[in-house]
Amino acid sequence: MKIKRILTGIATVSICLGVFSGCQVAKPVQETKTETSSTEQEVFEIPRAQDDFYGYVNAQNIMDISIDYGCVSAGAFDDIGLQVDEQLQEIITSIAYSDDEYEPGSNEQMIRDLYLQCINYDREIAGVQVFEDVFANIDACETIEDFLSTNVELGRQYGVFVVPTYGLDVNPYDTSEYLVGFSIINSFLTLETLGDNEANINDAFDQISSLLTNLGYDYDTSTNCARSIIQMLASITNVTDYDAIMNMEVDEITNIFTIDELDEMLTNIDMVSYLELCGFDASEISEVCVPSVEQIQAINDSLTQVNLESWKMYAKCCFLSSFSSFKPNEYATSTSTNYVDSERFALEVVNSTLTSQVGEEYVERYYTEETATQLEAMCEDIKAAYTEMINNCEWLSSGGKASMINKFNNIAFCLGGPEAHEINASDALLIGDSLFETISNIKTNEASVYIQRMNEEPDLLEWDMSPQSVNACFSPSANAIFITTAILNAPFFDLNADYYTNLGGLGAVICHELSHAFDPMGMEYDSSGNYNPGWICQEDRDGLDAIQASVIDYYNDFSILNVYHVDGELTANENLADIGSVQCLLSMCNSEDDIRALFINYACIWETLCNDNVILESLTEDVHSPARTRVNAVVACFDEFYEVFDVNEGDQMYVSPENRIRRW
Ligand SMILES: [Zn+2]
Repeated sequence: MKIKRILTGIATVSICLGVFSGCQVAKPVQETKTETSSTEQEVFEIPRAQDDFYGYVNAQNIMDISIDYGCVSAGAFDDIGLQVDEQLQEIITSIAYSDDEYEPGSNEQMIRDLYLQCINYDREIAGVQVFEDVFANIDACETIEDFLSTNVELGRQYGVFVVPTYGLDVNPYDTSEYLVGFSIINSFLTLETLGDNEANINDAFDQISSLLTNLGYDYDTSTNCARSIIQMLASITNVTDYDAIMNMEVDEITNIFTIDELDEMLTNIDMVSYLELCGFDASEISEVCVPSVEQIQAINDSLTQVNLESWKMYAKCCFLSSFSSFKPNEYATSTSTNYVDSERFALEVVNSTLTSQVGEEYVERYYTEETATQLEAMCEDIKAAYTEMINNCEWLSSGGKASMINKFNNIAFCLGGPEAHEINASDALLIGDSLFETISNIKTNEASVYIQRMNEEPDLLEWDMSPQSVNACFSPSANAIFITTAILNAPFFDLNADYYTNLGGLGAVICHELSHAFDPMGMEYDSSGNYNPGWICQEDRDGLDAIQASVIDYYNDFSILNVYHVDGELTANENLADIGSVQCLLSMCNSEDDIRALFINYACIWETLCNDNVILESLTEDVHSPARTRVNAVVACFDEFYEVFDVNEGDQMYVSPENRIRRW
């Protein structure tokens, strides 16, 4: 049975690929708990470290936890997510119910006003009005031109995008400028899996038809429409090379066209008016970047009068799905009740609408001076150790070492979260007379601020990830790592834990992200963050390829549930980062105790219990190895593990010395 998370947490726990390229720490999957009778539980034995190090460290905890209703997993990552949710709740409610006088435009004033609007939101009067107006606008579209205009308006006012609009992307070949580009079609459906198999198509079909039923359409209309919508979307997604997009294959996804060329290719979209509608001054734009030429052509082909009704119905589904928790009772059915706790609703809306304001308040309270000092000191130690590790690398040429160290020294460490912005009193005007007016004002303002940046130099170190999300990432274009305040919670980081315990937790995360600068994707970018595969010589590239090949073979041998094998190729970049990370950390240890503390917390941070189907899905979709492999495959590569935990030939963890991988 598929259990979906129903009550979404306020904080985002991991994974939001796309904004930042490269890796992000992702929520791990692994470890199923087999139901056992009480007698069986009594004889349950903790595995020996020599046979299953992950189990040795985590089995007892995993036996003691259970997956909450509405969730698909439990474990260290989920615990931190819940802890951050509580921290955010405390921040938002203490601001909302305080008697303090807040400065107009300040984070507190915005948070309080929006929160109270949510609490007082009357979905049956104000809500009905907005939903009816939006649907009437969609219904009124008589031509594709009308529809495109409504699409842009929905995007600008509510952040709901039905067909792709224009946006700004940093030019990968020259990060000092933006490119105006089409985005990839996006949806509440997982579009990239739409053509994959029948189960995914059925799942998408169910979602669309149930949304249409919510909208009041009868069974026949809902199912017929859902079928047409899925067919239309599949014709678009089937021609899209999602691998090229996910792997950031720059040559494949940076296709530059003049407006005239696009006009000729896209017969159903008037380019100049569409650019103007999106808020650009078309006369200032000479070129447009298209990430998937096949996709935009397929979208163009589907934007016909015959498909207009399907596009309109789909637009309604997109709006209803985006504002599901705002919907009046008339759009709720017996299968989708409308019960929403008003405080929970307010917390979620405030955190998702005023994300940066809440983030600044979160950083102010939780990224303390003491935390910053400890974290910065750890980063300095890691920098020194990493440089030495590159220097000691045997397969790199001396020129290659110098180039890599130069790139490494250029990596920016962005820690905690963005600096607080200066208060602008006019922001107070964004709070409108009603909840929807406020949301629309904030979204519209964000859209226009974004468009105004077109001619500015991109700020590559700007945080695209919120500090209240439990995450960390490396951005190849910025040549920077970002570590959020939310991930600075135990077991990753604890002010009171010993240094090597924290090193095995957060230190592993930091080193992992740094290692992405030198994985096959990261190696395509030079020390300035420009896409420039030629920055490193062929000899060193061959050395890297050889290591990558051995990592793929090594991980292909690992399996979960004793049957299903890890996909070494899919997970190669992440595995390389994990091995590089632990290799660096071990070089920082001075004693057996240090190594023991480091290895044990390294296993702790991946403690996870989840449903079998989630594990199996992840094997084909997740670029990270499952949690048990993430621990066991990595530690088994290092001689120190054998020495400290007395692992010998014949033990299940034993890997013969010639097969142990070294990243550097
Ligand atoms: Zn990663």
